[in-house]
Amino acid sequence: MIPVPAVEDTWRLEDIFATEDAFLEAKREVEETLPALADLTGVLARGAGELAVVLESISGVSRQLGRLHAYASMRSDGDLRIAAHQALRQEVELAYTELSRRTAWLRPEILALKAYSHASWDPAFDRLHANELPWRAETDRTQSGLNRYPEPHPHELAACLAALYGVPAENLLPGRGSDESIDLVVRAFCRAGIDNVILCPPTFGMYKVAAQIQGAAVREVPLTKDRGYALDVDGVLAACDANTKIVFLCSPNNPTGNAMDPAAVERLLTTLAARALVVVDEAYIEFSGATSLAASLAQHPNLVVLRTLSKAFGLAGARVGSLIAATPIVQLLEKVIPPYSIPQLTIEAVLATLAAPQVIIQRERVAQVRAERDRVADALSAKSSVRRVWPSVANFLLVDFSDPEATLAAARDAKLLIRDMRAAAGALRISVGTPEQNNRLIRSIS
Ligand code: PMP
Repeated sequence: MIPVPAVEDTWRLEDIFATEDAFLEAKREVEETLPALADLTGVLARGAGELAVVLESISGVSRQLGRLHAYASMRSDGDLRIAAHQALRQEVELAYTELSRRTAWLRPEILALKAYSHASWDPAFDRLHANELPWRAETDRTQSGLNRYPEPHPHELAACLAALYGVPAENLLPGRGSDESIDLVVRAFCRAGIDNVILCPPTFGMYKVAAQIQGAAVREVPLTKDRGYALDVDGVLAACDANTKIVFLCSPNNPTGNAMDPAAVERLLTTLAARALVVVDEAYIEFSGATSLAASLAQHPNLVVLRTLSKAFGLAGARVGSLIAATPIVQLLEKVIPPYSIPQLTIEAVLATLAAPQVIIQRERVAQVRAERDRVADALSAKSSVRRVWPSVANFLLVDFSDPEATLAAARDAKLLIRDMRAAAGALRISVGTPEQNNRLIRSIS
């Protein structure tokens, strides 16, 4: 909650108006500002920049009230005026409380932050303003030249990703993989030592690491194993308090491979509206064939969807993720993300990979991975050392083995790395590979 600023009641000589006119002028200013404060409904929708202006004007009004109060108290008819100011003061405080309620999940210092002012971007001009070297390296095969900084906030890339995910470009912020988006959202929304985030283990490890780096407390509400690792919505809601800023969900979930029930996610989003963000990490959604929750962005101002090119688009080495959210959230995070976050090499690789013919090839590969996933699952289920293959809609399988040590050793002998997830989920996680790699894996397991 943003604290209501105290109205200054203390008298300071320099605060007192010299003339009646000065008093009336200040009173008029206060009265003119109030209607703007009352119209808070659209403040968030109009963006974080405007919200910062409103906050500033509220503290301006508060200061003026203090001065009016001091002036009136000195006059013989002061009591009357004080009563009038008292009513104004109450209005201001109400406006402030309402604004705080609507913006409770935002860090006020991030709202007030002025973004780094980077060198202007205009490819039509020669750049003598960014202290770069005017020549390319001999080995530089890029279109734009690596001697130049990339676009500070890459609009063409954002537009291309927005088209891919079917959302307006102003709702999308590209980052260096979902890992950067996770870090960004935690830093922008959680105050160190005060706020907390909720995680549903077993799940992707970076949510916890990002929270710990930021100094946000981590509250864990495990997925319900005997319901196929389903979301415990009541448990999550019970764990939330006034300082809960983010609930992290992963669907399909890593490492369990199951998708969260959309109705359960919807209930969390609705119950936590105007209280906390619900971040839904859809890193593996292409392998599930499900529709992205980004389609319901308009109904949920507290929804953040994470997508990545690292999985279905085969660009893990390029490091590109997309954070999809309501415009005010995107604008807020744009102030926090470092400029030039996405390297030029990556921008060019993505634009080439997302051209239509490549996208068709990538979709065929996703279909192949899905078919291989089901084939490997069936083959493993028939093995004597396999206790259970958890149903998966991702590009990996979580598998319980009777002797996991022996399985890990057998995979290594076959020159395959598989992931030991015993600490988190009591099982091993196997990514779907090429048919040849999958066959080698199946052969290695007894
Ligand atoms: N989210 C999940 C659920 C993941 O499993 C991973 C990678 N293992 C990531 C995000 C990281 O994605 P990126 O490569 O885009 O940083």
